[in-house]
Amino acid sequence: MNINWYPGHMAKTRRLLSENLKLVDIVIELLDARVPISSQNPDFNGIFNNKKRVKVFNKSDLADPEISAQWKKYYKDKGIPCIFINSRNGNGFKLLLSEIENQLEEKFERDARRGILKRPIRAMVVGIPNVGKSTFINRLTGRAATRTGDRPGVTRNKQWIKINKKIHLLDTPGILWPKFEDQKIGCNLALTGAIKDEIMDLSDLTCQLLDFITCNYKEQLENRFGIIVDNQKSHELLDEIALKRGHLADAGAPDTFKTSQIILDEFRGAVIGRITLEKPKNY
Ligand code: GDP
Repeated sequence: MNINWYPGHMAKTRRLLSENLKLVDIVIELLDARVPISSQNPDFNGIFNNKKRVKVFNKSDLADPEISAQWKKYYKDKGIPCIFINSRNGNGFKLLLSEIENQLEEKFERDARRGILKRPIRAMVVGIPNVGKSTFINRLTGRAATRTGDRPGVTRNKQWIKINKKIHLLDTPGILWPKFEDQKIGCNLALTGAIKDEIMDLSDLTCQLLDFITCNYKEQLENRFGIIVDNQKSHELLDEIALKRGHLADAGAPDTFKTSQIILDEFRGAVIGRITLEKPKNY
């Protein structure tokens, strides 16, 4: 499978991001808890340089809690702040706000000693497409809709949203481009919805998912689809699931396209189970 997708206007997007970056004290790097590696931006370190930042793993309600705990330990051991959240219900948000304050406390104390008046912390959110930036901002600000400012050039007048007395948020999230050189990363991003299905071979993508699930979440797969996994190839499993579900194409052959769509939907909705595709040891 060869995924070749790249958001347009990358140079412009990057310029805009750098401009906005100058205005903030801290960057909230929104990541997908199911793909903690693939949802990172490869150029992040270069772009954000010495800016304070906090890694925020969104959609933690869909991720495997045991693996999320491993990731927490992984980052804790490295001294990198990381918080797991659910933007749909606000889980983890309190912790995040206090982490942001902690990060900036020293700076503001230093400023105060030099006679600089204390002002609210300024933060911005960055992340790859579909990671949940709008949902996150809406949850944080309690507003029904976020002003859409994703397109380069429309944010000349910066809008700040007051989260509380201490923290203000730039209402335009920064879009980051994911890394595509590595096909495995492309596949993980397609599975979690950062890349549109339309450009994918769904059966191929589903077979890759089945390969991973049979190795790591075999029981959940068996329970969900009422099958026994016993060394079958992933395309054979796909056929079996299609037949089990009664998805038949012309001449009674298994309708693997329809079945693929359903398996992907069930994976994305954590119906098969809470599945994380990347563990810290592979980092
Ligand atoms: P954006 O492209 O980064 O702005 O992403 P959106 O905010 O539009 O969210 C993309 C999809 O992810 C939407 O269907 C959201 O409802 C969903 N979503 C966002 N945050 C969460 C979360 O924490 N948990 C779950 N289950 N879904 C989420």
